[in-house]
Amino acid sequence: MRDTLPLLLETHFPAVARQRVETLQANLGYRCNQSCTHCHVAAGPQRTEEMIWETMELLLRYAAARHIENLDLTGGAPELNPYFRGLVIRARQQKLHVMDRCNLTILNEPGQEDLAVFLADHAVEITASLPCYLEENVDQQRGKGVFESSLVGLRQLNDLGYGRSDSGLTLNLVYNPLGPVLPPDQLGLEAAYKQELAEHYGIVFSRLFVLANMPIQRFGSQLISKGQFVPYMKLLKSAHRDENLEAVMCRNLISVDWQGYVYDCDFNQMLKLPLGAGGADRTHLSALLDRELIGAKVRVADHCYGCTAGQGSSCGGALESMPVPIPVMAA
Ligand code: SF4
Ligand code: SF4
Repeated sequence: MRDTLPLLLETHFPAVARQRVETLQANLGYRCNQSCTHCHVAAGPQRTEEMIWETMELLLRYAAARHIENLDLTGGAPELNPYFRGLVIRARQQKLHVMDRCNLTILNEPGQEDLAVFLADHAVEITASLPCYLEENVDQQRGKGVFESSLVGLRQLNDLGYGRSDSGLTLNLVYNPLGPVLPPDQLGLEAAYKQELAEHYGIVFSRLFVLANMPIQRFGSQLISKGQFVPYMKLLKSAHRDENLEAVMCRNLISVDWQGYVYDCDFNQMLKLPLGAGGADRTHLSALLDRELIGAKVRVADHCYGCTAGQGSSCGGALESMPVPIPVMAA
């Protein structure tokens, strides 16, 4: 895989300063039942990295010490971590709002038959990738059969109340373009998704989040191989809007890797760019238990234009229509 980091480090991206940390995002490991082409984590079935229980206890301690409101679980497929359910139970006991970056197909994997019920029982918010409402496009990006399997997962969730306005169970979908183009308008696309999924499949959901593809990891490598890296970066930069800086997720979130090291966001974690507040070295979460990060500088590089291009992408989607910046991306 070709590494885009050396091409991203020299940057004119504006400085970003942190506000209070509200969301703790934790990557529980890189193992996944899928191997999507756009995956910024390069996750897959062969990956073995996963968070241990001691690190999860540290997450819970940090959340209590810093009055964190949201615990956002991502991966890989976070549900494949053997301690996933134990962490969710403890986090809910601690009154944390828990979000799961669910890839939908995991709900049909052997051994995960009761996962959807578990998530509903603990009122876990689900954010799931569905890069199109057309089977052909989803299978092209995420693998053959993924669309059909995703529909099975969505139906399970709907049957439990997910995505229905009176249930209190939130089911968000995430769209990202198939190639090196900017995503379309979030509200317009959300309306099209709602209509298509309801009419053709009887599926409902809460909100659609629209994300630009980040020029890193697998997608970045593809851009280089196809000679599209430079034009794509030009596109992102030409679409940059300063007002989107107000809502980038790194202002209110920290991202913790499977070993407990902290980054300004999930993308920086994948690029191994250490926390801006921590200097040149990696910062471990255990060093932040007593530390306030308000005003600290975020470590930025050229990939950050992926967050501020056009209508902008927070971890949760286009920035303009987000009442609360919900943390990053597609599981
Ligand atoms: S890539 Fe990360 S650090 Fe850069 S603007 Fe986006 S969220 Fe912030
Ligand atoms: S994008 Fe999500 S579902 Fe696809 S390989 Fe990566 S972590 Fe797994």
